[in-house]
Amino acid sequence: MEASVNRIIQSSLVDGPGSRTVIFMQGCNMSCLYCHNPETQNASPKAKHYSLEELFDLIEKHQDFIEGVTFSGGECTLQHEFIIAFYKLLHERTKLTLFLDTNGLVSSDIMIDLINHSDGLMIDLKAFSQDCHRALTYTDNSAVKENIRLAAQSGKLHEVRLTLVEDFNDDPDELSAYFDFVLALPGDTRLKIIPYSPFGVKGSFGHKRAYPKEKYDLLVAMGQRILKDRVLKVWYNWRK
Ligand code: SF4
Repeated sequence: MEASVNRIIQSSLVDGPGSRTVIFMQGCNMSCLYCHNPETQNASPKAKHYSLEELFDLIEKHQDFIEGVTFSGGECTLQHEFIIAFYKLLHERTKLTLFLDTNGLVSSDIMIDLINHSDGLMIDLKAFSQDCHRALTYTDNSAVKENIRLAAQSGKLHEVRLTLVEDFNDDPDELSAYFDFVLALPGDTRLKIIPYSPFGVKGSFGHKRAYPKEKYDLLVAMGQRILKDRVLKVWYNWRK
């Protein structure tokens, strides 16, 4: 069994709790207009292939400096069999945790298997309405919403993530429905709201400006009125 990997970051503080090694898997089942990692979307001759043992050895070497591993992408759930086998190995031989950073577009059977073989999940809900989600990703979001519910029920949903794109998925009615959806989830699910940045984005969205701070603050405040401290604010100063 082998994983197709785009790249590995040894230590990150923004991909789950604590310091984590992030493994960006190759291949994706969405085509988001704002993708910052377009090189991960399709199969690529530049991808590296790792066996379970090879990837484990790499992690084991610096296990004292991290709290765990996060599989990201691309879309990591496309390689769910490898991830489940890796989870077993990691838990057998280390105290490290395994998190998933996923777009949530996977069958519920596979999602349940992944929930049972991971310690936490970050799931994107890229837009609330079906039309907006399709326009942004060329995919339907029904399965994504269902998988977010399943993860929340399991108690392992670390956060839902939303990237705000100006004049696209930031309509107040759309967002109000989005916040209500998160509010209705079991547990205290947190929502991370991320401002769009054109950095690294190719195609038509590469020309869009970074999300304006004033609008971002207003919409975060709107989210906080509904979700209180479950909203996580992330402001990157792209213009520095
Ligand atoms: S899900 Fe992520 S990697 Fe896939 S196309 Fe969308 S932004 Fe890019």
